[in-house]
Amino acid sequence: MSCGKFLKCSFCEEPVVTIVRYAKLRLCKKHFTEFIHRKVLKTIERYRLVERGCRILVAVSGGKDSTALLHILSALSKQLGFEVIALHIDLGIGEYSKKARVVVEKLCKDLGVPLVLLDLKEMIGAGITDLVAKSKRPACSLCGLVKRYLMNVTAFELKAHAIALGHHLDDLLPYIVKSFVLQNLSEIGKLGPKTESREVFIGRIRPLYEVSESETTLYAYFQSLPIVDESCPYTARKGSIEDEIRRFLNNVEVKRPGFKIAFARAVAKNMEFYKKGLMSGVSACNYCGMPALSNMCAFCKLTYRLLGKPMGPEIRDRIRKTLIELKLVAQQ
Ligand SMILES: [Zn+2]
Ligand SMILES: [Zn+2]
Repeated sequence: MSCGKFLKCSFCEEPVVTIVRYAKLRLCKKHFTEFIHRKVLKTIERYRLVERGCRILVAVSGGKDSTALLHILSALSKQLGFEVIALHIDLGIGEYSKKARVVVEKLCKDLGVPLVLLDLKEMIGAGITDLVAKSKRPACSLCGLVKRYLMNVTAFELKAHAIALGHHLDDLLPYIVKSFVLQNLSEIGKLGPKTESREVFIGRIRPLYEVSESETTLYAYFQSLPIVDESCPYTARKGSIEDEIRRFLNNVEVKRPGFKIAFARAVAKNMEFYKKGLMSGVSACNYCGMPALSNMCAFCKLTYRLLGKPMGPEIRDRIRKTLIELKLVAQQ
């Protein structure tokens, strides 16, 4: 077989593994990795996501997106001088959670990143599967509530500056379009590259804001990252309105390379407008002290209803002890 005719990388003599049309680049494996690192670095600078000396808690599910995010941030943290700590929540969803936990433990060990591992079943005596069985609430909404609470408590106790989430361009844009069509404008305020910390609410950052799904997939593949390749058994069915919008945006991207990033940047420019009305009327939970819309936070309410008592205070205590054991916070 002749090897004389393969396409060469835009920067070196190596064969091309991917063509990035919006950047007019053909890239080999090495230069693709550099391209993604540079892109995330620029995203961090453009939206001022991280500063030197920051402590960033990265939420890692074990899927390709959050795994790629941790890998990229771990590489950039040395260059930019910030600290990375991983958080994984074992949600108690059968085999899926068991596999995810093993994957995240391996990745953190390989990268030398400290891992805070929280086991929901161990902490409150019930996993997501048990809670779903007792509740009328849809599984993903219930799971989201639990995850948000545990992430926020952990970040708060760690005195982290922000929680980094693995949401990429193709996760976020369909929700932005949907929220716009339905005129839920303040929802768009939650979907940008950054939401600020306020008192006990720790801000979120999305360093993959301008990275597409295919790019995170390729990145995880080329870095041979350990990932759980099955999806959560509760994942929403195909054919949702978000899927339709995603297909539409990808069709436009084919005809107008760079359209999705231009759209994401335009939305980010108007973020202050969309954020108006967010977080108004938030106070502290009477039981656990975390953010609440009434005198009881959503997590304390949920556990009170399903398990007989508000578990927030116990959870905060457990997480504090875990962080002391890991020597990530000092004993008071
Ligand atoms: Zn190259
Ligand atoms: Zn509470």
